[in-house]
Amino acid sequence: MKNMVRGLSENGGVIFCGVDATEMVRTAQELHKTSATCSAALGRLLTAASMMGMMLKEKDDTLTLRIEGGGSAGTLIAVSDGMGIVKGCVTNPLADAPAKENGHLDVGAIVGNDGLLTVIRDGKAQKAPAIGQVPLVSGEIAEDITSYYATSEQIPTVCALGVLVNPDLTVRCAGGYLLQLLPGATDAEITQLEHNLSVMPSVTHMLDNGKTPEDMMHMLMEGFNPNVLDEHNVSYRCDCSEERTKTILKSLGKQELTRLRDEDPVCQVECHFCNKTYTFDLNDILAELPKEEVDAE
Ligand code: ZN
Repeated sequence: MKNMVRGLSENGGVIFCGVDATEMVRTAQELHKTSATCSAALGRLLTAASMMGMMLKEKDDTLTLRIEGGGSAGTLIAVSDGMGIVKGCVTNPLADAPAKENGHLDVGAIVGNDGLLTVIRDGKAQKAPAIGQVPLVSGEIAEDITSYYATSEQIPTVCALGVLVNPDLTVRCAGGYLLQLLPGATDAEITQLEHNLSVMPSVTHMLDNGKTPEDMMHMLMEGFNPNVLDEHNVSYRCDCSEERTKTILKSLGKQELTRLRDEDPVCQVECHFCNKTYTFDLNDILAELPKEEVDAE
């Protein structure tokens, strides 16, 4: 069984996407050595990015979520491709805060709510990236995503995201869902959905009790006869490579590369998303620059 499920109500008016992001968030925690609260913050953002990425038109398009809320975690970034494959990073992975009174991790405390959620969609078919921004509501992330859809895209959306962390900081489970209402929903349908939502347990409670994204869909869309549209396997995977890193270095141009070479010919570039380090001899990079560019400068 795959870890992301998308579904549609029988009448086509309600769409659902749900994901069991446990493995994805585990990988992120292991790579970035995040604190419990930071695992929850980055994990929620990655989960949302994966679902929103799956809605992109082309599989090579990218969706980036960036949160700058002024909290101790700093900036959080999650990037997804059109198949829900994600990577992410956070400025201060060790940022932490005492749990809330109800025992929940206080994500809003380390993310902050004085800033913006930025959503960037980019793809080959576009001349320039499409950028949307909304002020943060709470820094709890799910509410901020809901607010983004309501204000920036005028789509009534329910978003739930959850990450449960074990006492030893490993990720116990993680996941989420997005539910969107297409135009034309009746009052009776909205009332039914509100009822379904009011009795929905938390995402982590459901996952921890063995429920699947498809189970979540049936609970959330009770009375709507939902059908599974498609299923996918999503995960955390960085797409960096020596070739790509080289291309980025080359884009600095001859002048800047010469300046860096004169400082130190050995250049190390670390990927923020997977911590892989690439080492180059800048003399080699300079020698590989296109001939015309060398002549032009
Ligand atoms: Zn990487």
